[in-house]
Amino acid sequence: MEKVVIIGTGCAGLTAAIYSARANLNPLVLTGTMPGGLLTTTSTVENFPGFPEGVDGFQLMQHMQKQAERFGARVQFGTVESADLSGDHPKLVVDGKEIETQTLIIATGAGHRHLGLENEKKLENKGVTYCATCDGALPMFRDKPLVVVGGGDSACEEATYLTRFGSKVYLIHRRDELRASKIMAERAVNHDKIEMVWDTCSDRNTWCGRG
Ligand SMILES: Cc1cc2nc3c(=O)[nH]c(=O)nc-3n(C[C@H](O)[C@H](O)[C@H](O)COP(=O)(O)OP(=O)(O)OC[C@H]3O[C@@H](n4cnc5c(N)ncnc54)[C@H](O)[C@@H]3O)c2cc1C
Repeated sequence: MEKVVIIGTGCAGLTAAIYSARANLNPLVLTGTMPGGLLTTTSTVENFPGFPEGVDGFQLMQHMQKQAERFGARVQFGTVESADLSGDHPKLVVDGKEIETQTLIIATGAGHRHLGLENEKKLENKGVTYCATCDGALPMFRDKPLVVVGGGDSACEEATYLTRFGSKVYLIHRRDELRASKIMAERAVNHDKIEMVWDTCSDRNTWCGRG
C-alpha cells in the first residue's frame, strides 16, 4: 500500500509532492495525460516569484518535477480511470492496475471552456488566451483592441483588468444582460475603455447555449 498518492503533475500536484516528499512520505505522483499540467502550454510565465525576466512554462514544470524527485517523489506516467473512496483507504485504478493508498491528494486542475471556433486551437498563445491575468501584460496585447467573451464574474473581471493594457476592450456576450454580480457588471459596463457587444447569439455561433 502507498502512503501518499498524488493525482496530477501541475503546479498543485508537484508542490504537494515536494512537501510530502520532504516529510519522507515517498509520494507516488501520477501524471495523467498532461505531464507538467497546463503551464507547459504557455511560453512565458511572468508572475512566478524569483524570475525577473519570466520563465518558460515547460522548463518551470520540469524544474518542479526534478525538485520533487530530489526528495524522493516518484513520478509515474498514468491516468486514474476510477477511484473508490468508500472504504478505509482510497483505491484507484490507474491504467488498469489497482493502487491502494493511505492518503490521496487530488490535484487534477480545472479546464477552461473553448469557444469551438475554427483556428482557435491554432491561435492559442498567438493572440488567443484563456487567462487575462496570466497573459494580459504580454507585449502582443499592449495598446491593441482586445476581446473578452462571456458574461459572468470572470469575464467582467478579466475585461476590466485588460483595460490596463489594451487600447479598448470589447466584452462580447450572447445575451442582453450579464450574469455577473452587480458590482462586477457595473464596473465593466461603466468603464470608458470597455464596449459591450450584446446579443451575439445566432445559429452560426458555436458558443451559444454555453455559460
Ligand atoms: C495558456 C495558459 C497560460 C497560463 N499562464 C499562466 C501564467 O503565466 N501564470 C499563472 O499563474 N498561471 C497561468 N496559467 C494558469 C495555470 O496554468 C493554472 O493555474 C495551473 O496550471 C493550475 O495548476 P494545477 O496543478 O491546479 O492544474 P493543472 O496544471 O491543470 O494540472 C492538472 C494535472 O492533473 C492531471 N490529471 C487530470 N486528470 C487526471 C487523471 N484522471 N489521472 C491522473 N492525472 C490527471 C493532468 O494530467 C495534469 O498533470 C495559464 C494557463 C494557460 C492555459
